[in-house]
Amino acid sequence: MSLQFYNTLTRKKDVFVPLDPTNVRMYVCGPTVYDRPHIGNARSVVVYDVLYRLLMQVYGKEHVTYVRNITDVDDKINAAAKANGEPISALTKRIEGWFHEDIGALGVLPATTAITGKETPEQVKGCMGEPHATHHIAHMIDLIEKLIANGHAYVSQGHVLFAVDSYSEYGQLSGRKLDDLIAGARIEVESYKRHPGDFVLWKPAEEGDDASSVFESPWGAGRPGWHIECSAMSNAYLGGQFDIHGGGADLMFPHHENEIAQSRCAQSINGAGTTFANYWVHNGFLTVGGEKMSKSLGNFTTVKELLDKGIKGEVIRLALLSTKYSEPLDWNDKMVHDAKVTLDKWYRSIATVDSHAAVNHDFITTLSDDLNFPKAISVMHTASPAELLAMGRLMGFFDQTAENWFRGGADSGDAHNIENLVNQRIEAKKSKNWTEADRIRKELADQGIILEDRPDGTTDWRKT
Ligand SMILES: [Zn+2]
Repeated sequence: MSLQFYNTLTRKKDVFVPLDPTNVRMYVCGPTVYDRPHIGNARSVVVYDVLYRLLMQVYGKEHVTYVRNITDVDDKINAAAKANGEPISALTKRIEGWFHEDIGALGVLPATTAITGKETPEQVKGCMGEPHATHHIAHMIDLIEKLIANGHAYVSQGHVLFAVDSYSEYGQLSGRKLDDLIAGARIEVESYKRHPGDFVLWKPAEEGDDASSVFESPWGAGRPGWHIECSAMSNAYLGGQFDIHGGGADLMFPHHENEIAQSRCAQSINGAGTTFANYWVHNGFLTVGGEKMSKSLGNFTTVKELLDKGIKGEVIRLALLSTKYSEPLDWNDKMVHDAKVTLDKWYRSIATVDSHAAVNHDFITTLSDDLNFPKAISVMHTASPAELLAMGRLMGFFDQTAENWFRGGADSGDAHNIENLVNQRIEAKKSKNWTEADRIRKELADQGIILEDRPDGTTDWRKT
């Protein structure tokens, strides 16, 4: 079984060879907890949740370490807390709770072990770690000191900055050149920067900052830059070299580029002899009418809003997985409707399966080929009920019984009753009792249920 992923770093599909198959290590940039997750944020979480499940399937559950951080110190958090008039700690705690609630509804595996930030990599091996940036300030300071000692960072006006022109491979991930950074920089470059592309490792506290966002450091009280947080947390749990680093395509530059620069140059001058992460996986944007869904554009829909409309988590999950992970996914109502119809069909199919089969080898091969979700889903459409159950479980579906699914699905009228009537009508048609079949169709139509007969003799139903 060989997995392969499109690797942003090499710009081709690479066969995945873990550094240590008994401890396959993956880091994915987690949420900055300042606002409720929208479905663009959720796409990334769901994509890497399937990758995590696939890695466990291939290498064994106890041989995979998955770290997804919580960024709980950031300028956006300071701004949001100020705007809401609430303490930072109250804001971050609340949003983190919402994040877990929302991704939990999408069937994303929860952290299996509480992370305090004091564990060694050995202690978090085999669990899904969820470290908090605020628990790793000492680790960040340590990395920054190493960067200064290696000649890759400098102190200026209370800030510590990474000197991009000190690292000859800067830009290797995103393909950007330093000259382009100069050309693209705003005319007014901050006076504390030597080069317009230099980025903040540590910034001084400002008058009136909430005490919970102010930390002591050798360069005065302040807080870390966002990029160094991920370098510190991946290092703490996965070590200086690990296998997969994932995140949304929008993080490729500058966030991931800067993570590479910091992490490699903290280990040695110009990163010599280090790789940091070997495989860089990026999921595509989630768009609305072709435009990227984002908080700043104001065109976002939160997961919670969809759930409140009665759209089930598994429906959202399937819709998020309906397109190749690396391509843009344009969100629309039809996509949600189609996902619901598919899940109704699948749940009807698995309703009578009492034990599930092992996951079909070809199905794992399909998923292993750069996470080909659309192809995997098309295979599920033709699978036997027992196989479908096994495949679905691997993809993070079928967390509930068919009975619960249909009970929760039809809010007016009993889903069981609908199912029974649908089956009675199929029987009536088989015995050519057209009057009875039409009567049942009408009875269901009166309840707002639309039937769609399939060429294979089955019938799908949906509420209008
Ligand atoms: Zn990150």
